[in-house]
This record gives sequence, C-alpha cells and structure tokens, in this order.
Amino acid sequence: MPHLWLCPSPRANLNATILNPVPFERLDILMPIDASIPERYRALYAEGAQGFHCWAIGGDHRARGFFSTCMNPGSVCLFSEPSSGVFHLAARVLGRVDPCECAKPNSTRCARRVDGRPDGPCVRRASTIQLARELWPADVEKPSPWELLFFTTPATSVSIPKQQLVESVGWSSNYGVPFTRPIKDVNKPRRLRHTELLGRIGDLDTLWNDILRNNPIDYLYANG
Ligand SMILES: [Zn+2]
Repeated sequence: MPHLWLCPSPRANLNATILNPVPFERLDILMPIDASIPERYRALYAEGAQGFHCWAIGGDHRARGFFSTCMNPGSVCLFSEPSSGVFHLAARVLGRVDPCECAKPNSTRCARRVDGRPDGPCVRRASTIQLARELWPADVEKPSPWELLFFTTPATSVSIPKQQLVESVGWSSNYGVPFTRPIKDVNKPRRLRHTELLGRIGDLDTLWNDILRNNPIDYLYANG
C-alpha cells in the first residue's frame, strides 16, 4: 500500500540521485540478481530520459518492516536536509527492488551467500548494498547499509514546515525525523484536526496533484 514517506537527506546524497539523474548503465550492477532489472526499471521513465532517480533505506529489522508494507508505487516522499526545518523536495515512487527474504531473523531461505558465511549477505543483498555505496557519498544510516532500493519521479520543489507536519500527525513537535520512515504508526491523533489531516494525507493522489501545483501547504493545513 502506498504511503507518505519522510526522508531526511544530506545535500550530497540528494545531488547524487534525486536532483540529478543517474545513468541507466548503473543498474547493470543489479543484473546478477535479475537480468531484467535494467530494462524493467528503465521502462519506468520517459523515452529519451537521461537516467533514473532513486533512493534507499537501511536494511535493519524496523526498516524492512516499513519497506515491505509501505514502500509501493504511488507513495510520496518528502525530503528534508538536516536541521533545515522544512521539507523542500517531493517525489513519487515508481517502483522498488523487492528485498530478499533471507534478511529476516533466523531465516534459512537464501543459500547464495557471497562470502560463504551463513550470516553473510546473499547475492541479492550484496548487489543493492554495493550500488548504494557507489551512489551515495554520505551514508546517513550507518552501520545498516542502504540496501532497500526504490525508484522515484524527478523531484519537485515544495516548502512544508517540518515541525508543523510532525505535530499534525501526532508526533512531538521537536521530533526531528532522524531516519527515513513512513507516516504510519502515528500516535493517536490528539485533536480532531489531526484526524482530518490524516484523512487528507491518506489520499496520496490528491496530495501529489497538489504538490505538482506547488501549493501543498494550503492543502495540508487548510483547516489548521
Ligand atoms: Zn538472500
């Protein structure tokens, strides 16, 4: 199911894959896990596109849970540089590389370990981790590498105050959104307007259309 995602993002990483397209050839690194990936994800972009846009999150247990249930085509990502106090870019998710099930605790499902160790990464995980390390100069979620990969539209500029947004979904007003996450397990809305706002955020098609018209603030906070 698509969700609204909040993505804290060093400028260097945004420059690498969100503000600038990545040449399609970089997807070749994923061919050991699925030879159709380069063509499949290239097809998400318009004819003549210079490259693709992507983002990823770390592969720890919590992140995998969020990713498997909430990171789907149609999700909307809001990006924010640390300490900026504002979400300044938005992009919509086009597709994702399905993660390997073998990263689940105690799983024995995947035998294709890169280094032969039973607890080492498998071929699938190692390929996305390697791509992440090559793409993003600042890996903000160390020590858990960015192995959960997804593709987005080119970004569009927005200006959404971070404090106002996190308050609106019931989080503490000083919550800094330290890691990439969906708005999902929000605290019980404390006031009626929160409920109304969650309903509005839940309608991602309307939110995205509003973002494209460059007035998400009016939309999100009309009843604020
Ligand atoms: Zn695996």
